[in-house]
This record gives sequence, C-alpha cells and structure tokens, in this order.
Amino acid sequence: MFSTSQAWQTILAHSRQLESVRVPLAAALDRILRTDARAEADSPPFDASAMDGYATRRALLTQPIRVIGESQAGHPFDGAISPGEAIRIFTGAPIPADADCVIKQEDVTREGDVIRVLQTDRPDFIRRRGENRRTGDIIVPAGTPLSPPDLAALASAGITQPEVTRVPRCAHLVTGNELVAPDRTPAAAQIRDSNSTLIAALLQSNGAELVAHAHARDDLTTAQAITAALPAHDVLLISGGASVGDHDFARPLLQALGYTLHFQAINLRPGKPLVFASRGTQLAFALPGNPVSHWVVFQLFIAPLLQHLQTGAAAEPPRLTGRIATGSKFPSADARQTFWPCRARIAGGTYELTPLPLASSGDSSGLAGANALLPVPPPPHTLDASQPVEFISCP
Ligand code: AMP
Ligand code: MG
Repeated sequence: MFSTSQAWQTILAHSRQLESVRVPLAAALDRILRTDARAEADSPPFDASAMDGYATRRALLTQPIRVIGESQAGHPFDGAISPGEAIRIFTGAPIPADADCVIKQEDVTREGDVIRVLQTDRPDFIRRRGENRRTGDIIVPAGTPLSPPDLAALASAGITQPEVTRVPRCAHLVTGNELVAPDRTPAAAQIRDSNSTLIAALLQSNGAELVAHAHARDDLTTAQAITAALPAHDVLLISGGASVGDHDFARPLLQALGYTLHFQAINLRPGKPLVFASRGTQLAFALPGNPVSHWVVFQLFIAPLLQHLQTGAAAEPPRLTGRIATGSKFPSADARQTFWPCRARIAGGTYELTPLPLASSGDSSGLAGANALLPVPPPPHTLDASQPVEFISCP
C-alpha cells in the first residue's frame, strides 16, 4: 500500500500545468500569471516634485527669489527659469529642466511674487525619472498568484489582458442509493448528500470550476452512461463506492471508461480507499464516501493537484508550526498514517490547534470548523499542550 508521499508522487507524475489564456483584469484575481509583466515606461515618467513648494536653482537660495509661473500635476510650466527665479509647484508636477531643487512651502516666506528661503540645507525633493523602475523592468514575475496590488501594478503598466493559467475543469459524480439532495427530507435508510456541497465549495476555494455534477445510483451500467455524457473536464471526482464492498463500483466504472488505475488504497487514516486513475491527460479520483475521509483526501491530494495544474509547482501542502490547545482530547493510535482534522486559531501570536472530537469518519457536521490537518506521530504518539507541532493549513 502506498504511503501518502508515494501517492502524491504518483499523482504528480500524471499531472502537468494547464495551458494559459488571456483574461480581463476583472477576472484575473488569484489566477497564476504566466508571463513576466514588465514596466512599459520609466516610473516616474519625468522628474517630478515630491512636495508642494517652489522649484528653483540652488545657486541663489539666500537671495530673494521671484516666482514667475506654476507647474501643476498634469499642467507643466513650459518656460525657462534663471537663477533667482522659481515657479510654484505641486506634488507630482513636472520639474522644469533648469530647476535643480524644490523648496517646501513650509520653508519659505512669500510676499507678492517674492519668496525668501528659510532653510537652505534641505534635500532636493525631486522624484527622479525612472527611480521606481525603468522601462522593461519586471513588475510582477510569471508564476505569481495575482493579488489586488499585483492587478493594480498590471493596470498601471497598461496590461489589461494578462496571460494566466486556465481554470481547471472538474466534473463530480456522487454515488449512492441512500443519498437525497440537501433540500429533501431523508426517508428511512436515506441520508442527505453533504459531499456534493463540500466538493463544490472546495473546488471553488481552490480556483477550479465545477463544470458538471451528477448523481448515480449504485449501478455500474447507469453510472457509466451518466459519466460518459459529462462535458469535457480535466479532473473527474467520484464520491463513494471507492472501497471493496459488493456495491462499490468506482474502480470497475473507471476501468470501463478507459481509465488506468494507478493506486487503489493508501496507508492513510481516514481516507484509505482512495483510487487514482488517468486517461490521457484526464485524471480521476474515487473518494471514500465518508465525509471526513472526503475532506482529508481532498486536502492532501486534490487541492495540491489543483495547485499543480495551475502553477506547475510540485510542492506537497506546506506545513506550519503551532501547538496543541490545552485540554485537547487526542485521537487513538493507529498503524496507518493519521491526519486529524483540527481547528487552528491564532492565540498569543502562534497557532493553537484543537483536534475536532470526531466519533467516526462518517461525522459530516462534526467536520464544521475544520481548517487544519494534523499529521499524528506514529504510536506511541505523545503530544502535549506546550509541544510545537507541524500542521497543514486548510483555509
Ligand atoms: P461509500 O464510500 O460509498 O461506501 O460510503 C461510505 C459512507 O459515506 C456511507 O456511510 C455513506 O452513506 C456515506 N456517504 C457516501 N456518500 C455520501 C455523501 N455524498 N454525503 C454524505 N455521506 C455520504
Ligand atoms: Mg456508497
């Protein structure tokens, strides 16, 4: 049986970064930039005043100076200044070619058109052309997940259709005779389908698109017909039926659809019966139906895969450090590699983790509040409240 690392390496070996598309800035938030964005002009584009004041020449600062004009942001002064002359100037306005300093308005007295400089030993207060960056400098490097400031930087460079990775397309098939939609009241022996809501939200928060969702009863022939009719997708997720019970048909279904199975179980608790398969560039998972297993395998394998499809980065989920909350009850030992859902919160400047009191992996509402996964050390695991632990953040 594969370890979680072997499973991840196997998934990676069948994954590749998706191609790029151009999208408007309004649709580019959190998308992965694929080409370096470069400055189209020097910034600032001209020598500009850093202050409201007077642009003049240093040579005659101790003499009375005559104000002969004005430069406003967007309205430059188009004459020339001789020694002993100044122009009124405002922040961001172009500096006339023959001025070499700006005197802050607080550092002068003014009578009519004549100013006297009170402080002559001040900086120039000129923002030099290109001092922020030069034409062609990289302003946002390829590979960046675009944040609001990144988008503003692209806008300032006139890049209104950045090239970003296209959104991964996912199809979800939920299986089970016992399932009813959440807006229905379950009859005897039925339960509400909570996994479909979980998957839809997880896909959305990982930058993927749910292109189709279907429910199949536990019958291979109808499930095959339903799945074959799904619109084009990069990743197929099948919920339930991943194990080896008499009615667990996810593996034969994937094989009947022409997928090759790469692993059919991993040394993981919860989430052991995870199936991974591929068909050309399409990837598929059959996830164990238990809601807690569902969430755990999504966080450990599917979320990183969706990242890889978008970024091309092969990283396993990064680990943060925190400590276990005082008085936490801890899950019992197991030979399998255990990842326990926790609630992480910041307390006293560090992360504090409370393991969720889940009675079983079937506890769908007990998962509420989960935002972290704690890899439990192998038995005998001893974790106390003060001890630092590594965990995976699952925002
Ligand atoms: P399975 O993997 O299909 O054997 O399902 C394992 C357990 O998860 C069973 O108790 C199912 O009833 C439950 N289950 C399966 N699918 C869902 C779902 N979509 N929502 C909630 N529970 C589910
Ligand atoms: Mg089932």
